[in-house]
Amino acid sequence: MDYTQTLNEFCDYLKKIEAYSKVNSLLFWDSMQKIPKAGSPYRANTRGVMAAELFQLQTSGQMRRYLDQLTPVQDKLSDFHKALLRVSRLTYEQNAGIPKELFQEFEGLKAEAMDAWDTAYKNNDYDYFEPYLKKLITLSREITKHLPFNHEPYNALLNLYEEDISTEALDKMFGEIKAAIIPLIKQISDKQTSNPANRLAHRPEFLSRYVPKAAQEKLCLRLCKILALDESKAMLYETTHPFSFTINTNDVRFSTRYDEHDFASAIFSTLHEAGHSIYSLNIPEELNETILGGGASAGFHESQSRFYENVIGRGYEFVSLIYNDIMECLGEYIGPVSLQEMYEGFNYVTPSLIRVEADELTYTLHIIMRYEMEREFINNGVDTARLPIIWNEKIRDYFGLEVPNNKLGILQDIQWSAGRFGGFVSYALGNVYNAQLLNNIKKEIDFNGLVSRGEFHKINEYLKERVHKYSQLYTAAQQIKMITGEEPTPKYFIDYLTEKFSKLYLN
Ligand code: ZN
Repeated sequence: MDYTQTLNEFCDYLKKIEAYSKVNSLLFWDSMQKIPKAGSPYRANTRGVMAAELFQLQTSGQMRRYLDQLTPVQDKLSDFHKALLRVSRLTYEQNAGIPKELFQEFEGLKAEAMDAWDTAYKNNDYDYFEPYLKKLITLSREITKHLPFNHEPYNALLNLYEEDISTEALDKMFGEIKAAIIPLIKQISDKQTSNPANRLAHRPEFLSRYVPKAAQEKLCLRLCKILALDESKAMLYETTHPFSFTINTNDVRFSTRYDEHDFASAIFSTLHEAGHSIYSLNIPEELNETILGGGASAGFHESQSRFYENVIGRGYEFVSLIYNDIMECLGEYIGPVSLQEMYEGFNYVTPSLIRVEADELTYTLHIIMRYEMEREFINNGVDTARLPIIWNEKIRDYFGLEVPNNKLGILQDIQWSAGRFGGFVSYALGNVYNAQLLNNIKKEIDFNGLVSRGEFHKINEYLKERVHKYSQLYTAAQQIKMITGEEPTPKYFIDYLTEKFSKLYLN
């Protein structure tokens, strides 16, 4: 059978899908801007219509026919066409089987639950949110019955974010991280409490000094220049929740937030989102207008953002590089701070209750506990009234802390109220992937030297050639293996944390 014509038609069909997907993204971007509020219901309707249209294209009978006709000949296809088929099939299988009523009920519930969460969070009232959470879990469990998965239902949800990950691999990975990191955190906090006079025992006060937004903005724009971001292709904005947003490889928008009593938050949000953006800018132009231009996976994207935020941004070489810029832009507000104090301040660690405020060392444990809870309640259900108790026990086990109220505990994240079960894992995978990539990078280039000299065009170019150019042509795990020669392993992440924080705190 000659499949060339079918393949061409399939590619055109996917181009249309991608165009709808971009329009949806642009409508979303628009909604994040300062725009007339009164038009909101009409904009929501437009978004609804466009999203439904996209869903219809992804799950249509026509799509089914393309998949049926091309799957038998997939071995003859190029890697590019194989990837188009693989990703289309996955999207089809993750959507087409869900009964329409169930899908609509879940979508409606999410909107209500997010409102309920907002109220519950403000009032520190878990009981108010509990019935919604219960329903979200029940419907998610129902949805997994209509999704493809191996071994256990929770894998179906994980695969919505990370196509080739399973609880089997995560249990192993997270088990090793816990075994190494929990004792290290304990050692560090014991040392901090045993010697309160040591300056590493407290969060340095200069980090909370008042710094006006304008000064922070000036610094963040300089950081974009230092990272060699091309202004004609990428622009920095300000929003309440920082994000990065890709229209195509020549149009990337990212944002940061300015807290006048926490200037470091703007620095590291900028670096994080810049990392997402550099990945997007480095994806080959040929993948524009295809469904493969969005990066390998959520976890792989996080590996790149966290690489710029933590590995580069919180590394001694980078802090040295930007020290003068920080002092020029912020010095009059933060007062005299030495390079060493700055480096230690940016790397201050302490067990804490809130995930988004957690430091580089403790952050992954916040993810692991959420993973363990989600996995249990999606696979086996749960008495939702007991969830805060389970949460608080885990905080005690992992961090040695007591949770004083649910606002500082189970109510802190918006994700569950948005029905996003399985998504947290991406953040932890990002850390694991980037440490493994770092180990490889150091073998191939003089990484620390390039960072010290601020030669970011070279670092970005290297990443483009060795890492970014694959985008979604292969799965995240396949890419890690192709690039580093090893299956994804937490070994390098554990080594990286142990080395960095032992040196800072335990010497
Ligand atoms: Zn991110």
